[in-house]
Amino acid sequence: MNSCVFCRIVAGELPTQKVWEDEEIVAFKDVNPSAPVHVLVVPKRHIDKLTEATSQDRDLLGGLQLAAAVVAQKMGIADGFRLMLNNGASAGQVVWHLHYHVQGGWKGGVK
Ligand code: AMP
Ligand code: ZN
Repeated sequence: MNSCVFCRIVAGELPTQKVWEDEEIVAFKDVNPSAPVHVLVVPKRHIDKLTEATSQDRDLLGGLQLAAAVVAQKMGIADGFRLMLNNGASAGQVVWHLHYHVQGGWKGGVK
């Protein structure tokens, strides 16, 4: 069994609140949000972290950013959001499956 939590979400083995998906990417709500709107944008193929990506992942990495913009539109935060990626334990990465955080929805600006 795959122990990667995001691979298990992709496989439909764990429940999630899906926001958007295409063939290569899925976006779902963060289970422990640190912003009023907090969505994770995740490649369906497992990549540990950004520094494990290669030039062959160029289109996928671009696709993740475009997906983040679509998610922001869909969540009503396109006028102001943050896109964040933690790479490595010292940066706070705890899920070892590459993902972007899309965060926004603060009333009156970022708190
Ligand atoms: P990071 O610190 O960048 O690795 O972020 C991992 C994020 O994944 C955290 O914000 C967690 O709240 C979130 N997370 C962990 N497990 C789940 C899950 N099953 N569904 C949704 N989000 C999750
Ligand atoms: Zn994975």
